[in-house]
Amino acid sequence: MKIKAAVLREVNKPYSIEELELAPPQEREVLVKYAYTGYCHSDLSIQQGGIIEGLPKVAGHECAGVVEAVGPGVTKAKVGDHVVCTWMVPCGECYTCREGLGNVCMGNFETFAAGTMLDGTTRLTDKDGKPVLHNSFVSGFSSYSVVPEDGVIPVRKDFPLEYAALMACCIPTGWGTVTNIAQVKPGDSVAIWGLGGVGLNILRAAKMRQANPIIAVDIEPDREEIAREFGATHFVCNADKDPVPIIKSLTRDGADVIFEAIGDPGAIVQAWWALATAGKLVIAGVMRHDAAAVLPLQLLPFHQKSILGGLYGSISTHNDIPKLVDLAMTGEMKLDKLVAGKFKVEGINEIAERMAKRQLTGRWVCEWD
Ligand SMILES: [Zn+2]
Ligand SMILES: [Zn+2]
Repeated sequence: MKIKAAVLREVNKPYSIEELELAPPQEREVLVKYAYTGYCHSDLSIQQGGIIEGLPKVAGHECAGVVEAVGPGVTKAKVGDHVVCTWMVPCGECYTCREGLGNVCMGNFETFAAGTMLDGTTRLTDKDGKPVLHNSFVSGFSSYSVVPEDGVIPVRKDFPLEYAALMACCIPTGWGTVTNIAQVKPGDSVAIWGLGGVGLNILRAAKMRQANPIIAVDIEPDREEIAREFGATHFVCNADKDPVPIIKSLTRDGADVIFEAIGDPGAIVQAWWALATAGKLVIAGVMRHDAAAVLPLQLLPFHQKSILGGLYGSISTHNDIPKLVDLAMTGEMKLDKLVAGKFKVEGINEIAERMAKRQLTGRWVCEWD
């Protein structure tokens, strides 16, 4: 079938909006008609070459829609289901999956990075008949996509699909980073560097975990309003203020848990100096492949500080996403405030540019017809 998609052909070049041919779903694959796709900072990192991936590929990995058809052998979804499409598809059989860490499945990681379906081939071809790669199994910026059945999570139909799209990346990443990786306790002092889609969800989850105080740090001063809306007790703009002494004065000489949700080595160093003795620095931001930071390592044992990385909030997609959907239905996640705007796929280059200039607050979602 013919579909419309945003294709990344070269790094540091605009996406091209193209008509592609999408082959039907194969064994244990599902055809999904997308309703919404969020533009995530990782999309920008791929476009800018900070994350190296094979090209050309259809961009996007934060998407939700309605099942249009199913291939042979599919048992986990049916036509008409509303589904969140997840960018990691655990194999269920590798060492990490058996340890309960399907978010870092080693069995399917190579295929994930290669940009194909699980059988190593692509379902996408361009107008010249040349193959086009998928992005993270889901190829979010396309009007329709074929997805492995283990990558679709059916969700309740009264949950708006624009919010369901964000359940594919920024919401579970933010919430899982707080609950699974940092394991924030009531009364922990928390600081968060970076208030993008993941950072805002970290902030909200920390608030609902009754962290106190919660200090939001961002280089853009106009993010204070949304930071306070999501539960920050304090806001520091680090464009013109050093957040380290401010955080030390608001806490017991440093925050118990600090989240870095940008992927910036400078922010990681700054956050490290604001950490309490025995504190945890949790890194959810994805930095460039060549990024490095210099930290005084002797203080790691002497002050018993930890540095933790987290991918996808260490969630179990099939268990945790439906739970997060139920939680979102209470209104406590403030998803109406998280979704800041909508665009059509033809406007994706403008959205990417605005994100690169840090002009977007909250999440912007592509609306499909
Ligand atoms: Zn993402
Ligand atoms: Zn696995």
